[in-house]
Amino acid sequence: TDSDTADEAVRATCDDASTCKRFATSKGYWNDPFIQYFVRQTGERKAPEINRGYYARVQGVNHLLDAFLKKTQCECQVVNLGAGLETTFWRLKAENTLPKKYFEVDFPMIVARKIHHIKTKPPLSKPLIETHSADSLLLDGHNLDSDRYCIIGADLRDLPGLEEKLRKFHINTELPTLFVSECVLVYMTPEQSSKLVHWLAHTFHTAMFINYEQVNMADRFGQVMIENLQRRQCNLAGVDVCQSLDSQKERFLSTGWESVNALDMMAVYSLLPQEDISRIERLEFLDEKELLQQLLQHYSICWAVKDTLNLGISQIGF
Ligand code: SAM
Repeated sequence: TDSDTADEAVRATCDDASTCKRFATSKGYWNDPFIQYFVRQTGERKAPEINRGYYARVQGVNHLLDAFLKKTQCECQVVNLGAGLETTFWRLKAENTLPKKYFEVDFPMIVARKIHHIKTKPPLSKPLIETHSADSLLLDGHNLDSDRYCIIGADLRDLPGLEEKLRKFHINTELPTLFVSECVLVYMTPEQSSKLVHWLAHTFHTAMFINYEQVNMADRFGQVMIENLQRRQCNLAGVDVCQSLDSQKERFLSTGWESVNALDMMAVYSLLPQEDISRIERLEFLDEKELLQQLLQHYSICWAVKDTLNLGISQIGF
């Protein structure tokens, strides 16, 4: 059916994201020793502005995530929604900053692929086994559950199904919990994403939500971005051309979150550590600075907080 085709196209976006991240790390934009086990080939060359855009995205999200782990002293959970082939669990394990438990959710088909990579590659499976106390961990074709890392196959638009699985794998609604979604909510209708963030705000008393996605799509550049995605038959249910930083914030403020911030990626880029920016700007020559600016202006990071325990997580920012 059309909706199967659209979901398949959405799942394919996971390969895009990980291929672009793989390429950028091969150029030295940031270090990720684990991504090679999910994406073997460096792939064809990506334009410098694309690599810088991914750099800002990864560093921006990591900055907020690391700040949350620090504020909660890792006495928390992280739930990555639409995680695709992300490698954050392995980074945190290597840096010795793992939360109590790290969860990932994606479509069952993506989850099965991820689990296959983990099962067959010791550099991926070893850190998992090292953080697991009992002798058997659940690792079959469709599920992976260990003490510190769990991957769940579910559709984020089906909240009862999602809740059942999170509970089955022992999510603790009493622990401070960070939710992360990177280019995911845009594939759901505004009603579906609002229901999801509403449910989270009413289920977890102390939580933060980091959302990275497209913004300001009404102009010519935004239209070209949308056309590119549509050409691939992606279901862009959540692309509202009017979506601005204010409407990003409104999604959270209207669903029970206490405070919310949003920045476009141009702003984030200017707030990231400038020595590292100078380093990455020397990696590849970028002829048209204008192009990078336009690209960065069409993506944003929005972070929302609910801090019933008064941990001070609403102070987190750049
Ligand atoms: N967050 C990853 C990253 O940044 O590398 C992957 C981003 S990719 C653009 C979007 C991901 O969201 C895909 O892996 C896709 O399968 C997942 N996704 C989209 N809609 C979903 C849904 N309704 N339920 C579960 N996963 C979904």
